[in-house]
Amino acid sequence: MNGPVVQPLPGAGLVVRAGRLFAACEAAGSGELLALVARVAADGGDGEDLTRHAAGLLPGGELSCAVGGPVAGGGVAVFVCGLGVAEVDDWVRLTGPEPMRRVVAGRVGTMRLALPGAGTPHPLARLDAGVVAAAGLTVHYPETPQAPAPASHEPFQSVLLLPGHAPAPQPPPAEPAAATQPLVEGVDCKNGHFNDPAVRYCQQCGIAMLQVTHVTRLGPRPPLGVLLLDNGMTLRADADYVVGREPDRDPDVAAGRARPLRIADSHGGISRRHLRIRLSGWTVQVLDLGSANGTFVQEPGAQEAPPVPAGQPVTVRPGSKVIFGRRWLRYESHRNP
Ligand SMILES: [Zn+2]
Repeated sequence: MNGPVVQPLPGAGLVVRAGRLFAACEAAGSGELLALVARVAADGGDGEDLTRHAAGLLPGGELSCAVGGPVAGGGVAVFVCGLGVAEVDDWVRLTGPEPMRRVVAGRVGTMRLALPGAGTPHPLARLDAGVVAAAGLTVHYPETPQAPAPASHEPFQSVLLLPGHAPAPQPPPAEPAAATQPLVEGVDCKNGHFNDPAVRYCQQCGIAMLQVTHVTRLGPRPPLGVLLLDNGMTLRADADYVVGREPDRDPDVAAGRARPLRIADSHGGISRRHLRIRLSGWTVQVLDLGSANGTFVQEPGAQEAPPVPAGQPVTVRPGSKVIFGRRWLRYESHRNP
């Protein structure tokens, strides 16, 4: 057997492992969810089945939890609500409070399901089966692929993680060094995670930031979230992107100061260099690069999408849609809007 290594994270809550399916949840009111994990596992379900049922069980985010399991092709499906946090390979981070469900396609190394205050696992701690008191768990998948789960054809949001504009069968290599990231002013949570001074909860462990003094320090900027393209492609918001039909022509792309995001355009509405996604401090901005048809930003919940003024960067709040031609991308982040 070459199954995943599962380690419980110390802290308050309950975690369950039923075969290859997992959940971490607050103890109060967790009975139905714990039973659900066991039932889906007994039925031979995969992570997709589990997260779909969990979303049906908790339509309003009634219970703080994080749920996950593998899906066909080597990816995982995760679901969170309340204060639950799900992280996959440091690329994807899903948080509540609204129920959120996500499939991360491709090879996955580590999945972490946690509640606020989850600690570091003891190196010898293992969870092979059952329910234990813990604030979360980490699942380390072995290099050799598991037996694939049965294929499913139900349509649902599937996110392919890509380092650039070209499809990549493997996750991209780790960042070469934190030192290559721009330095920004931030604060440390109680557990030493570097955060935006404006956030209320640590973006890595979820602990309330109220407990630390807000003394800022300079540190390497962590990813600010993801850019979700209309075709399901996801890019990590950890660098500037030049978006357009021929973004490689941009001098900053050539110089390595921005990444190219090439957009196919059959309707003629997208310029060669259309817009730039720019990271500034802890915010994501959009800058129209003098495109012929303009760039528009639709804030979450808004009916209208006003144009980005020429030459003026506009800050993009999480959940906002950036529209260009007939294409769009959305900035998604766990950051508080
Ligand atoms: Zn933290």
